[in-house]
Amino acid sequence: MSSRKHVVQPGSTIGMLGGGQLGRMFAVAARQCGYGVQVFGDPPDSPAGQVSDRSWNSPFSDHDALREFAQHVDVVTYEQENIPVATVETLLEFVPVFPGPELLRVSQHRLLEKTSLRSIGIPTADFLKITSAAQLQRGISELGGDAIFKTATLGYDGKGQQRVGQQSDCEAIWKSFDVPEAILEKVVPFAHELSIVASRFTDGTCSFFAPALNYHENHILDVSISPSPQISDRQTEDAQHIARAILEHFDVIGVLCVEFFATVDGQLLVNEIAPRPHNSGHLTINACRSSQFEQQLRAVCGLASGDISTQTPAVMLNLLGEHLQHQSAAAWEKIFAHPNVHVHLYGKSEIRPGRKLGHLTIVGHDVVAAERLGRQVRSDLSVGTK
Ligand code: AMP
Repeated sequence: MSSRKHVVQPGSTIGMLGGGQLGRMFAVAARQCGYGVQVFGDPPDSPAGQVSDRSWNSPFSDHDALREFAQHVDVVTYEQENIPVATVETLLEFVPVFPGPELLRVSQHRLLEKTSLRSIGIPTADFLKITSAAQLQRGISELGGDAIFKTATLGYDGKGQQRVGQQSDCEAIWKSFDVPEAILEKVVPFAHELSIVASRFTDGTCSFFAPALNYHENHILDVSISPSPQISDRQTEDAQHIARAILEHFDVIGVLCVEFFATVDGQLLVNEIAPRPHNSGHLTINACRSSQFEQQLRAVCGLASGDISTQTPAVMLNLLGEHLQHQSAAAWEKIFAHPNVHVHLYGKSEIRPGRKLGHLTIVGHDVVAAERLGRQVRSDLSVGTK
């Protein structure tokens, strides 16, 4: 069912596939604008379920439950890209789903993703398809001896990937991942990493948040800074140009994040795309009048873009399990005493290392000072200030 011109007005209900933190922040934005939200795929105590009207705790493969869910919502969107395409196709028989299945399919599969991007002239790291240990061995040499082995599907936050070299035991690696196909990527000696969150609306117009400079720790996003003096005007234009090309090629209605490596000579190579808001865009909640989540709402409801210009520079620091293991009332008290520090917690009770439990956004015109303050207060939290 496609109804691009259909406006979903306040008072209507949005269906959200997935109950994680991105669904939670979307639900908060949607409720603020007067919409109801029903979550599919997670229990009522999920991060999104806690702030939504109803949770459908059925698997994405339960097509009877999906048909019933579709009767209760006016439009559907999603917060993660590992939703089976068949789930979206079933829902589409009854209710509009944005973004549609085309980009979803591509973003679920690293080989398909990179092949599709290359086919429309968008540069990526050099890569090879790998289906055996012998191919892996040959591929490492072909790519110059330093590469990253990644499973084709279900990889995120560094999961399903391993750095490999000439000395690697390819038989053991291939066995341990136990997948039918994988991708081998040349290691990009990047100068920095950046991302852009873009939106496309039912009238075909696009909007772009200022790009963010990103630092990763153990392959997981750690800090995002936007705007960053390290990102040139030329890189901002290139990032917008590439995001627009992807949005238009796949006829996306909704939000898209494109992650890039910036090479030492300033060129952008796409690392990954996600057809949804992104961790590096969380700072838009405090930095812009319309956040990435409000943009998602506006796009999927057939409304116009909000004001996405940067009102204040901002730095986002993720709060992982290891940062909150020793949290104390005293540490929180100190954090809340800084008027420029904004606390976002996702309502997850189980604290595990590497698990994304929340983030801090520090606003301020001096992003260097904001980053320093953010790192300081996060470390106070980690060590358990008395
Ligand atoms: P991914 O899960 O593919 O987004 O990778 C997570 C992080 O691992 C990236 O943001 C980079 O910091 C690093 N990484 C992944 N692929 C490469 C590559 N081909 N070259 C250099 N670093 C990489």
